Amino acid sequence: MMEEIQEAIRHLGWVRSSNNEKVIRALLRVGIKPENCFMDQEDNLIIPCKEIQRKKQTPFFCKIGWHKVKEATEFDGASLHGICMRCGKELMQDSQGNWF
Ligand SMILES: [Zn+2]
Repeated sequence: MMEEIQEAIRHLGWVRSSNNEKVIRALLRVGIKPENCFMDQEDNLIIPCKEIQRKKQTPFFCKIGWHKVKEATEFDGASLHGICMRCGKELMQDSQGNWF
């Protein structure tokens, strides 16, 4: 689900989903405010272009590999996974606690 949303944001700028609560939570994780989005007649969640453009530009700190993860989204048994609040990239945590 997360991957689908990330891909849709990256490439299309919209998300088609019947589970909007889940989508909104995912949007919050990548730093897009739900109030900046709107629904069309068919209940697709539309994310404004400027939001997407902003997300497409990799912020300076992310470019140098310094990502910002507020909280881990999952643990696969070996590593923690999280999503960067600045660039929306899916990351893993190394043994020193750095996200890459
Ligand atoms: Zn980042």
